[in-house]
Amino acid sequence: MEQRDKYISGICTPAIGEAGKTGDWSDLKPVIDHSKCIPETKGKAACFLCWLYCPDGVVTMSIPVEIDLDYCKGCGICAEECPPNAIRMVRKVECDE
Ligand code: SF4
Ligand code: SF4
Repeated sequence: MEQRDKYISGICTPAIGEAGKTGDWSDLKPVIDHSKCIPETKGKAACFLCWLYCPDGVVTMSIPVEIDLDYCKGCGICAEECPPNAIRMVRKVECDE
């Protein structure tokens, strides 16, 4: 199985499970405002709390920070933990209401 991030110590590794890719059944997805993201505003490796707390290991510790939406389950922990509120959760599909 491909190792997606060499820095992850590995509680889990994103992989296709019985229910398919987790990103296929999530309702919400995280969107990063890169103008607020600390590593990008500082121009150096810093923060990365989204990477640290993501339970699925789908956030990269890179500049820019990237999220693999194929495996993001939309839990919103990254958005909760982001100090400058650079991540917001948005609906993947707008309902007709
Ligand atoms: S937690 Fe927020 S500010 Fe920190 S690296 Fe992630 S997106 Fe950027
Ligand atoms: S919403 Fe959850 S699974 Fe998706 S990147 Fe954020 S912490 Fe990880």
